[in-house]
Amino acid sequence: MLLHCGHARYVWNLAVEQHSHWYKGRKAAPGFAEQCRQLTEARRDSEWLGAGNADVQQQALKDFAKARNAKFTSGFGGPTWRKKYVHEGFRVIGTDRVPECNEDGSPKLNTKTGKQVMGRSVVVQKLNRRWAHVKVPGCGWVRFRLTRAELPEAKSFRVTYRNNQWHIAFAVIPEPVDAPGTGEVIGIDRGVKITVALSDGRKLNCPQLTVKERAQIRKHQRRAARAPKGSEAKTAEYAKVAKLKAREADRRKDWCEKTSTMLARTYDLVRFEKLNIKNMTGSAKGTLAEPGKKVRQKAGLNRAILAQGWGLLRQRTEHKAPGRVEDIPAPFTSLRCSACGWIEKKSRKSQADFVCVSCGFTCNADENAAVNVAAGQGGFPRPRRSAGAGGMTTATSRSSVREPQPIRVGIPLFLF
Ligand SMILES: [Zn+2]
Repeated sequence: MLLHCGHARYVWNLAVEQHSHWYKGRKAAPGFAEQCRQLTEARRDSEWLGAGNADVQQQALKDFAKARNAKFTSGFGGPTWRKKYVHEGFRVIGTDRVPECNEDGSPKLNTKTGKQVMGRSVVVQKLNRRWAHVKVPGCGWVRFRLTRAELPEAKSFRVTYRNNQWHIAFAVIPEPVDAPGTGEVIGIDRGVKITVALSDGRKLNCPQLTVKERAQIRKHQRRAARAPKGSEAKTAEYAKVAKLKAREADRRKDWCEKTSTMLARTYDLVRFEKLNIKNMTGSAKGTLAEPGKKVRQKAGLNRAILAQGWGLLRQRTEHKAPGRVEDIPAPFTSLRCSACGWIEKKSRKSQADFVCVSCGFTCNADENAAVNVAAGQGGFPRPRRSAGAGGMTTATSRSSVREPQPIRVGIPLFLF
């Protein structure tokens, strides 16, 4: 399987090279069909490549073509180089021939010949409740641990290798989660201290590494730094660091999956405050002529932001509840009073406390922001002045009618 990985990476990188700028200057970059022809030639010329599996190599080209087409829609940009030990993996297309069906269940026929269209299916068998095996070309049956109750019905699967672990993923697009139909709207405020604050007052935290695990990472990093260059001990220590860091990423992913499923199942509409994580996590380094300030601190904050998995949570919720996720472009959500609509910097007393300077409404700062997001309200520094209702707001109108306060009074309104 490592050899498959090597072949796939080699073919992929050749394709990247063909589409890179310096190559393009000489010749037009070949498309998928042309690349397949070239691959056949290359397999004849190279003994190493020719000994590998043709399907695996061709699938690498197909993946590349797909990645290139999705350059502007995937959010990841165009395909880039694959690195040894980092981007190891290959795709296998199923070998079983099965008749394809239309969406209504009738057999799919070729429009020209009228013959039944045959699709591909992965050969996979369940061994027991926890284990199954799949046929990998050139390797025979490969056992894998099941993470779902049912066997997947997929046309292809992808095998990846990282941090000494093999993973298998079947290409299946799951059905979206049904909306509960209660009409409930939830607002979500994402933060560093509390990962996710919901507008119903719940606070959910993304699991991080424990203090002990973090100490272990530091220990192994220290040992690796002290080990002689190129020694086996150094590699082993770095492998331990990588394993612990992978654990953190696994936990984050798991949490995002569970939370997004919960959101998709319990609420009809999920509103996230619009964040530009890429801008938020930009480096503070600056230029050589104008070096930035507090570069290390910003790097630390960036790490904290990225460790929260904000982007992944939003993305997975959208996958599970398509059309039921909204982004609220909301400046000042954290400064706006969710009771009266007054926006004032001084209202945010501390990281956790929100006390409105206008109406005295007290709330947890994150929850307050989440309620604003749920209402779709960000607003601007000056609240809207509605005509007619000039005067002061009373306690009753504050709690029952959640409207922007018409006129700001000079002295804070305390109600005794
Ligand atoms: Zn207020």
